[in-house]
Amino acid sequence: MRTALVTGGGRGIGAAISKQLASDGYRILLTYCNSSKPAEMVVDEIRNSGIDAVAANCDVTDAREVALLATHPWVSEGIDVLVLNHGRYDRIDAKELELEHLRRTMATNFEGAFLVWDATKSSLTENARICVIGSQLGTRGSAHGADYSASKAALSIWARSLAQSLAPEGKRVNVIAPGFVDTDILSGDSPQKRASREEEVPLKRIGTPEDIAGVVSFLAGDKSSYITGAVIHVNGGLYLP
Ligand code: NDP
Repeated sequence: MRTALVTGGGRGIGAAISKQLASDGYRILLTYCNSSKPAEMVVDEIRNSGIDAVAANCDVTDAREVALLATHPWVSEGIDVLVLNHGRYDRIDAKELELEHLRRTMATNFEGAFLVWDATKSSLTENARICVIGSQLGTRGSAHGADYSASKAALSIWARSLAQSLAPEGKRVNVIAPGFVDTDILSGDSPQKRASREEEVPLKRIGTPEDIAGVVSFLAGDKSSYITGAVIHVNGGLYLP
């Protein structure tokens, strides 16, 4: 049985990725940090479709919890697809940012991804695919998220370095950089703010978690077999680097 590990796979974009990869035939080991209920609901939905799934509690900033995750039997049996999706974004004006907050964001978005990779790398199968969820802000920067943008920039360049190192082994690493996606990250928007975001996007809509999950499915599959080290912008034309 092929296995996919999806960090933060219990809600938002991660939940859509978990369900998509399950429908692609992978059993799903998803992690959550605080939101056990949505994670269990995703697991139930996947199991009801006849695919095995399990949710594991893991705060990626805690090396001991990540090490425990790596002892899960499905990890030892081999990971075919690793999706580093977890992330936090607390809107803070760049000029108000404090070191403590910067460290917390880096510890989650960047170091947390590294920790999960490091703890599971010996369990990756021969042709494993790693998909890293970055952000358009990792290239653009943001007045309201200097810490977030820096963490996503670090994540992206780390992933591209890893892609170059792992390519001779047949393993592929790619980054997806979403634009606006309809999850809790945008739930604080007023109707006016939402409308202005929709207007800003050339395709005139906010992205759905499924828009991102479809690209993960492509990157996990054989049809992308010559793509590694890429950053794929999935943003409705909002930002074209
Ligand atoms: P959500 O806020 O809906 O979900 C964030 C996920 O990350 C949750 O599953 C959460 O788990 C998990 N998470 C947060 N902190 C930790 C931690 N310390 N340890 C483990 N897991 C953690 O966000 P999205 O679904 O929107 O975001 C998914 C990814 O996409 C993130 O990397 C985000 O930066 C990126 N992204 C999102 C965009 C958007 O517009 N939505 C745009 C660009 C990028 P739990 O709930 O259990 O705490």
